[in-house]
Amino acid sequence: MKPVLIVHGGCGTPPPGEETPRMEACERAADAGWEVLRRGGSALAAVEAAVCQLEDEPLLNAGTGSYLQADGVARMDASLMTGDGRAGSVTQVPGLKNPIQLARYVLEQDAHVMLCGPEALQLGLRLGLEQAVVATPGKIDYWQKHLTEHNLRLDYAKMAEEWKNENPRLGTVGCVALDNEGRLAAGTSTGGTGQCYPGRIGDTPIIGAGTYCTSLVGCSMTGVGERIMVLLSAKRLADLVSDGKTLTEAGHIVMREIEGLRSFGGLIAIDANGNVLELYNTSYMSAARRS
Ligand code: ASP
Repeated sequence: MKPVLIVHGGCGTPPPGEETPRMEACERAADAGWEVLRRGGSALAAVEAAVCQLEDEPLLNAGTGSYLQADGVARMDASLMTGDGRAGSVTQVPGLKNPIQLARYVLEQDAHVMLCGPEALQLGLRLGLEQAVVATPGKIDYWQKHLTEHNLRLDYAKMAEEWKNENPRLGTVGCVALDNEGRLAAGTSTGGTGQCYPGRIGDTPIIGAGTYCTSLVGCSMTGVGERIMVLLSAKRLADLVSDGKTLTEAGHIVMREIEGLRSFGGLIAIDANGNVLELYNTSYMSAARRS
């Protein structure tokens, strides 16, 4: 089997001048994942390597560079799944440099699927994973500029009005890979939507919403988590492929469903034949692929 890999750095409209650096960040991550596949490594290891690199890119909204929630804390989500049905996920984890590494640990233990919050951080630290201050000057500045009276008071109802009138802050990262043994893996990682109510969880750590993988197809989503969660978009794409739709047909159906909710999103996917798909309905999504 010929290995294939695709990464994304999230959909949305980036600040002026950030299009190229975001694309370059994706290229570096694609290189990191591709190096693993080129040496005969597994799709799982390649996805982890690529997502680690994306998490280390301060411009992107995952790991270092995660948006801060309304109380000024970055709480991160990450998930991984392999084509043999194993999955690992962490949600609302503060202070870990690479949350995707903890998601991989959970996947490989094959006991629980999802861990959350400070307890997940404690496990990560016991495992020797690197702790980090993930808030970058740029994201702290962004948080301060967007801090409203309602944010400060954590007035949920008033904050809800603000969310409805605002463009969502996007920029989640993800990777899908197919290795030379025909194994698929998919992973996604995010700082979520900035300025949200503390503890808000989006689609990214939810297996079936932000990430899904079967022996036929792997998928990583980006976009408005609240919509992707109710549609279970990544699982929906996998179901459509298993029902006989082509990867492209399945992807367009998933995107139409997101649009049906008047929402924004993007996806990357690879099927067992090595077909690669990249779709989004925003003005921009950074991505890079290798084959
Ligand atoms: N899907 C992410 C979330 O809702 C945001 C993103 O894609 O940038 O947390």
